[in-house]
Amino acid sequence: MGKEELWQTVLSEIELQISKPNFMTWLKNSRLIENNDGSALVALPNHFAKEWVETKYHKLILGIIRNHDGTVRKIDYAVEGSLVKVPSKSRTSVGSLDEKQLAFQEMKVDPETNLNPRYTMGSFVVGSSNELAYSAAAAVVQSVGVKYNPLFIYGGVGLGKTHLIQAAGNEVRSLSQGKVKVKYVTSEKFTNDVVWAIRNRRVEDIKNTYRTTDVLIIDDIQFIGGKEKTEEEFFHTFNALYEQNKQIIISSDRPPRAIPTLEERLRSRFEGGMIADIGLPDYETRVAIIKTKLQERGAAVEDQIVNLIAKRFQRNIREIEGILNKLIFYQLNYQKPVALSGVEKIINEAIERAKPNITPAQIIKAVAGFFEISPSDLVGRDRSKEFIEPRQITMYLMRDMLNMSYPYIASKIGNRDHTTAIYSFKKVDVSIGKDPILTDKILMIKEIVNKVS
Ligand code: ADP
Ligand code: MG
Repeated sequence: MGKEELWQTVLSEIELQISKPNFMTWLKNSRLIENNDGSALVALPNHFAKEWVETKYHKLILGIIRNHDGTVRKIDYAVEGSLVKVPSKSRTSVGSLDEKQLAFQEMKVDPETNLNPRYTMGSFVVGSSNELAYSAAAAVVQSVGVKYNPLFIYGGVGLGKTHLIQAAGNEVRSLSQGKVKVKYVTSEKFTNDVVWAIRNRRVEDIKNTYRTTDVLIIDDIQFIGGKEKTEEEFFHTFNALYEQNKQIIISSDRPPRAIPTLEERLRSRFEGGMIADIGLPDYETRVAIIKTKLQERGAAVEDQIVNLIAKRFQRNIREIEGILNKLIFYQLNYQKPVALSGVEKIINEAIERAKPNITPAQIIKAVAGFFEISPSDLVGRDRSKEFIEPRQITMYLMRDMLNMSYPYIASKIGNRDHTTAIYSFKKVDVSIGKDPILTDKILMIKEIVNKVS
């Protein structure tokens, strides 16, 4: 594998493991400039990115790169342009923030519980859009397994579901000083475990892992809808825990009755507990969330800017965090506050990119139109050669433009296995920039999608 290809492969794997804003901020513009005699040299766009990547992501990068090139023993980092290795003792202070203050973001996930310690009840801002869900979670923490079982939280993307259910888990752990066993899992991971267990005849393992916990937290349950074996296994897990008064906490992007393929018996179990929704936060709550996030990062931003961001972003807290990351990064890099006009620019770019009104159906229509095939052929199961590339592009765009999960993408395109979606995404992603014809196709299709939506 050549340097470029190796690095693209490494990046596409890192991207799956860290948050999108972090990836975009720290690694997107990196390059592998040397790989000789077991020593690799990675170039980063500026000093700050270099220090950050060195301290935060070195282990991850080394692990991944060695999977693809076993000869690599060490990696050095340099600032792009200078190409002179900066010795670590010459590190200078970077504005008013130091690494420790910024390190909040990638705090270690606890391998036993899978919980990220950064999600706490204390850092969850409560407003009218989420107070019911918050109080229910707080009540569950106080009386685990007794009061609201299961607790079912639902709401749109980026509105704090994962934060809240993980915070409940963290709180239970700290109140019980780690005695109460908690396990957090995404339904994607649960599905993978079930598939693996069936394939390897180790279904007992599922029982050992999931039925021996005191609190089971399952995130984004909507993805198990329609997967019979997984639903069945989950049903049995649910019952086993429920009968022992163990707590179950579930999140979903919609209420149980709106998950079309969910088995009736699971639906009625979910409806037997407490169901609480998280809605869109009002302006005041958004301002409070922004201020909390800035405080966590030890960053100061003028009120005027806080208000502007709160005004422009109404639907998704994760997008707000992306903007804050950019602002903070800018302030660190240039060691001065961003002017209001600069903030406007950052916001406009982000909104342009997010285009929240694009739907999977629009992507399917655009790709089908571009390749002059019918949408039903595009999402069908016919393996004719002419459909392969359009399908891969469709899956790539669903991930790239809509950030949809692989299982969901696979379910939209001929009900394929999610590994097909991962493969397709990577294949296209790695070729972009290298294959000018493919790159042009993608750009043109994106334009079509953006125009019609
Ligand atoms: P969801 O799981 O609903 O898609 P997340 O829980 O991942 O959303 O939230 C996205 C980001 O927004 C997280 O970083 C989270 O900390 C933050 N967030 C969302 N709601 C709140 C809130 N009420 N208070 C503080 N942070 C919040
Ligand atoms: Mg989530």
